[in-house]
Amino acid sequence: MLAPLARFKIISMSWSQILGHTERIDAFRQLVGRNRLAHAFLFVGPPGVGKRRFAVELAKALLCEAPRDTKSLDACDRCAACHLVDSQTHPDLFTVRRPEEMNELPIEAMRDFCRDFSFKPARGHGKIGIIEDADDFNDASANCFLKTLEEPPPMSLLILLGTSLDRQLATIRSRCQLVRFAPMSDNHVRQLLQKQGIDDSAMLARLVRVAAGSPGQALELADADLWDFRRTLLQMLTQAKINSVQLAEAFVEFVEKAGKESAAQRRRVNQMLKLLIDALTDTARLQAGAPARSAEPADLPLLSSLAQRAHPDKIHAMLTRCLETEQHVGRYIQLSLIVEGLIDGLGQLLDQPGPVPVRFQGFD
Ligand SMILES: [Zn+2]
Repeated sequence: MLAPLARFKIISMSWSQILGHTERIDAFRQLVGRNRLAHAFLFVGPPGVGKRRFAVELAKALLCEAPRDTKSLDACDRCAACHLVDSQTHPDLFTVRRPEEMNELPIEAMRDFCRDFSFKPARGHGKIGIIEDADDFNDASANCFLKTLEEPPPMSLLILLGTSLDRQLATIRSRCQLVRFAPMSDNHVRQLLQKQGIDDSAMLARLVRVAAGSPGQALELADADLWDFRRTLLQMLTQAKINSVQLAEAFVEFVEKAGKESAAQRRRVNQMLKLLIDALTDTARLQAGAPARSAEPADLPLLSSLAQRAHPDKIHAMLTRCLETEQHVGRYIQLSLIVEGLIDGLGQLLDQPGPVPVRFQGFD
């Protein structure tokens, strides 16, 4: 069963809906035209730039059952197979992804995937497997998958999605044809966000700024509550004396409003960390005499006051602290402890007189 496409609304797709990846579409047209499609592709690029949408559209084009040129890479969007892909119920299109509450792609998920993928195509037009989160294979799940990757069933295609080549296991990487996906232009990000129904011009402008070419990431942050809390957080961090207890309580309360499920709360902590990291990066840029990159003009007084309050070393130490916290959020540690630890650490850094104490590697 195909899992929902992140938070994107599913609209009937075709290549014309896929912005910013024309070269890759052309490359696949040529491969299909020459009958040179490899049996496995590894799509690598930043999260949220459309790798998954591209993979699904490719699958749809290949599974389309309308009478047409066999070398065509255009789905008809009308036949039963196209409708099944659109409704995420095509029996020959398989997707596996890391469960949201886990850090790794578990062997059980790969075992189920490999078993289902080994059956004959139900509709007789081949079968396609999309492995999301190829970054997160562990040794066991990778070993389980290797046999399918080395000896795929006839008429099958595997598409793996990853965010960085460094995160791919050599055994898997070497058996796939690499396709790189770059960040999208601001213009394309804006168009895609508008198609998703975001028409508030202030929100649109701020999302394009923080997107860094990734509409998927921007969409994750399309929540006014996040931006309100970001402002509260920055305001409290610029105060002469940080009330860490009060700030941590406010942060935990904000996180819990995301819902009872741990995955929803973790997502919110990650979203907030992303905004905080962007704000601190902009603060460091202001300190270096460069313009802010993601902050909006109304935020500049707050960031300037933080830039004046803290030595650049401290801002860098705060950034490091946020990046370390990002690593912890995915692990099985109580979220409230992570948030409290973060705020306490940031508060101490800001309140400490003088420069940041040197941290010796290996003693920390
Ligand atoms: Zn079709």
